[in-house]
Amino acid sequence: MSHIANTNLTQAQLDAHWMAYTGNRQFKKDPRIITAASGHYYTDADGRQIFDGLSGLWTCGLGHSVPAINEAVANQVKTLDYSPAFQFGHEKSFQLAEKITEFMPAGLNRVFFTGSGSESVDTALKVARAYWRKKGMGTKTKFIGRAKGYHGAGISGFSVGGIPANRVLYGQGLEAYHLPHTQVPGTEFSKGMADTGKERAEDLLNMIAMHDASNIAAVIVEPMSGSAGVIVPPKGYLQRLREICDQHNILLIFDEVITAFGRMGAQSGSEAFGVTPDIITMAKQVTNGVIPMGAAVFKQEIYDTFMDTGGADYMLEIPHGYTYSAHPIACAAGLASLETIRSQGLIERVKQMSPIWENYVHSLKGASDAITDIRNYGFAAGISLAAVDGEAAKRPFQIAMSMWDKGYYVRYGGDTIQLAPPFTTEETEMSSLIDALGESIKKFS
Ligand code: PMP
Repeated sequence: MSHIANTNLTQAQLDAHWMAYTGNRQFKKDPRIITAASGHYYTDADGRQIFDGLSGLWTCGLGHSVPAINEAVANQVKTLDYSPAFQFGHEKSFQLAEKITEFMPAGLNRVFFTGSGSESVDTALKVARAYWRKKGMGTKTKFIGRAKGYHGAGISGFSVGGIPANRVLYGQGLEAYHLPHTQVPGTEFSKGMADTGKERAEDLLNMIAMHDASNIAAVIVEPMSGSAGVIVPPKGYLQRLREICDQHNILLIFDEVITAFGRMGAQSGSEAFGVTPDIITMAKQVTNGVIPMGAAVFKQEIYDTFMDTGGADYMLEIPHGYTYSAHPIACAAGLASLETIRSQGLIERVKQMSPIWENYVHSLKGASDAITDIRNYGFAAGISLAAVDGEAAKRPFQIAMSMWDKGYYVRYGGDTIQLAPPFTTEETEMSSLIDALGESIKKFS
């Protein structure tokens, strides 16, 4: 199926845009153009309806073109389109900060706004270092991430991140070391959390022995790895990381850019897995993806450490922030997004329907020998596929493209197909998505 005839774009226009996270050469030969989106469906340049099997990029759990968000954004643009920092503020940022804390575990109640997940991670890591410096422990500068982790595209994010392809071109980053990932052999096809594998947290002790806690600022992990293909932590793993961090005076950061605000059938990954970190980073679902926005949320003691700085009141407690921090249009979208999640009871819906989703996803087991693992939690799933001629990414790429042609958007990444349907997905949509995926996988087996 060729798509190029259906776009009016010139080759010069196609060439002018260096596209993010896209094989540009392939795309520009056969552009798949999205022209509109509403509810659970995109419309493509051929006028076809395409089910959004990843809720945007894990962003649009409420689906697309949500009336309450559209209205909030339209009103905000007309009322206050931008608001500066440097001792000025606008009300919606404070309202949204409070609203966000209602989704956070108790004690995480100080919200710093950013423009993206990458900036949220940068903020968390900078604050972690500055916090220790404020406490007279300025040698605590190293970070511990995890293999297969994704923490955004900034220099700090790729440093703590553990996806080799995202690091290899870029040379030296921050000083960071990586725990082993939690995709433990023998736990394939586990539903939800695996019963075994929590011992992988013990590696943190080896790292502390190697680097000494006096040099380590923070451990950062996604409670459930998203971009590497929905890697769910084994039971007890996050609890053990928490214990070790507490014993050694190391901050624990959960990167919840994907897991916050409902995806897990819980308010956050922290709530789903019952572990409270010191800092949570977030983005995506906070505005339902409509306007870029992120945030890092801190436990109060971290915030207070900066506020107890002494000196004149007008002095900055931390010289950090972005031109688009707490952008009023993003705040308006954020309030509408989070209020909709609450008023429609969507977290409860995801929780209730997760077992149904789980059954559909795991029904693919055995559909093809190419399927090597299936993982799921909440409304998320990862299906790992065997490499072809030593090439891990090729088959998932082919499957994702064939799914588009069948009328389904799914993401490929590494050796996996990733699924994260909207929170309001009906069972019939789950069923047809999984049927189509089974056919596509068989086609490339
Ligand atoms: N952290 C995690 C866990 C993510 O999934 C992502 C984005 N997929 C990021 C950080 C980076 O967010 P952004 O692309 O908004 O910078």
